[in-house]
Amino acid sequence: MIVLKQLKHYAKTNRTALVNREERLSYQELGARSDAFAAWLLDTFGKDCSPVVLCGDKETDFLPCIFGALKSGRAYVPIDSVVPDDRAAQIVADVQPTVIVDFTGRKLDVPAKVLAPAELEGIFSTPAEVSSENWIPDTAPAYILFTSGSTGRPKGVPITAGNLDAFCRGLLPFYREEEGVVLHQVSYSFDVSGCAVYAGISRGMPLFTVDHAMAADLQECFAALEKSELALWVSTPSFAELCVQSERFREGLLPHLRQFLFCGEVLTHTLCDTLAQRFPAARILNTYGPTEATVLVTAAKITGEMRRDSRSVPIGRPVDGVTLRLEQDGQTVTEEEQTGELLILGPTVGPGYFGRPDLTEKAFFTDPDTGLRGYRTGDLCYQKGGLYYYCGRADNQLKLNGYRIELEDVEANLQRIPNIRRAAVLPVRDADGKAQYLAAFLLLAEPDGLTPLRRAIQLKKEAAAYLPVYMIPRKLLTVDAFPLNVNGKIDKKALAAQLEGTP
Ligand code: AMP
Repeated sequence: MIVLKQLKHYAKTNRTALVNREERLSYQELGARSDAFAAWLLDTFGKDCSPVVLCGDKETDFLPCIFGALKSGRAYVPIDSVVPDDRAAQIVADVQPTVIVDFTGRKLDVPAKVLAPAELEGIFSTPAEVSSENWIPDTAPAYILFTSGSTGRPKGVPITAGNLDAFCRGLLPFYREEEGVVLHQVSYSFDVSGCAVYAGISRGMPLFTVDHAMAADLQECFAALEKSELALWVSTPSFAELCVQSERFREGLLPHLRQFLFCGEVLTHTLCDTLAQRFPAARILNTYGPTEATVLVTAAKITGEMRRDSRSVPIGRPVDGVTLRLEQDGQTVTEEEQTGELLILGPTVGPGYFGRPDLTEKAFFTDPDTGLRGYRTGDLCYQKGGLYYYCGRADNQLKLNGYRIELEDVEANLQRIPNIRRAAVLPVRDADGKAQYLAAFLLLAEPDGLTPLRRAIQLKKEAAAYLPVYMIPRKLLTVDAFPLNVNGKIDKKALAAQLEGTP
């Protein structure tokens, strides 16, 4: 695996691999700790290669655990600290790990060895070297990421070591040699973090950590960033939107910054214009890709001409190794500017969904002509001159503040609250069509006698047992009956119209 080979190379140096608040981890320490963890896994569990679950935020030792698992031939499954215990338990039940490293002190009642940070320290202090023969092979999953699933249960997406190598080959041409410090703000459970964890480490770059608490306090975040010597910014557009709200966020704060890399959701003209004005020396790279095809498959350097164009900001051209195809009604779309569903083909396309052959068969395929592995994205796009433009989703999936959410997932989990008989959730969008927050219409099982405000407070509290905060609707409204459309389904258009009159 490219990243493990490169890590071995850089581990001979004293370069910085990670800065996390006051802590600093060198490449040498990252190499040694990951070897020690791998040796412990191999000694303790031998041939049992079940995935290692890692629960946390951005703790310094999270990174050595990732590479330790991979060096021992095991996949890892990150579970972010914002995920409630109930949802974490569903993931753990699916994965059935033998080891869980828990940085957060979660309540997990499972028959696995749970390692607390103190025990990990003990393991790290035992020197070891693990032969590359034990490393994860190309065809085996390196990680399994759980994304929002339409049934209300998170859906596992395994990505192989070979997929990650293909991703690195596609992205690394956009990283200059010795690019400098890279931002490590994206959660480990969101694959865009791979731009730092896989591509950054493969280039020997230092990762600069911004954890949840820091991201929530911009003054603290900027104070840290000011000393970071950051050269490469990696985030969703939403996080950068948050930063530009402050006038401090400009070249003076980050004088070494050479590139913004965005991925995961629509990049707007407004954000590009603000950044181009405040960071005249930095290049803006828009990239696009679903978890199922390993982080990103297209990239575009946003030029002044693209910023002035009335079209949306392009998602770019396929990166090295990736083939794209547009399809409409089963036919390949060849004309320019004609919209179709985007199909991704090539070595970044993952094997399918974890333990869900039914879902895998619907979305993944092997192309009979080329033999390439393919994935149907559900994204509507068109291309002009080989440059691709994103036009939205063909289904109920959406991005809210950079988080991928299936509306049915939110509905199914709200319906687990005892007094909610039926829930219908819809996004509230701004004038540009960008989702701002979620609204839920609820049919109660029986009257609760509460005022709307008290009810909303109570239900949000109950929802937090099943859903991470970013998936809990901001607005909760009750209905006596749902309006139905001609097919007898809940008429979401009518509900959206009802929303317009509400405060
Ligand atoms: P995820 O699996 O969380 O990375 O989400 C993948 C989905 O995010 C894609 O299928 C798109 O709908 C959306 N997405 C990712 N990158 C972009 C982008 N640059 N522009 C617009 N939508 C994007």
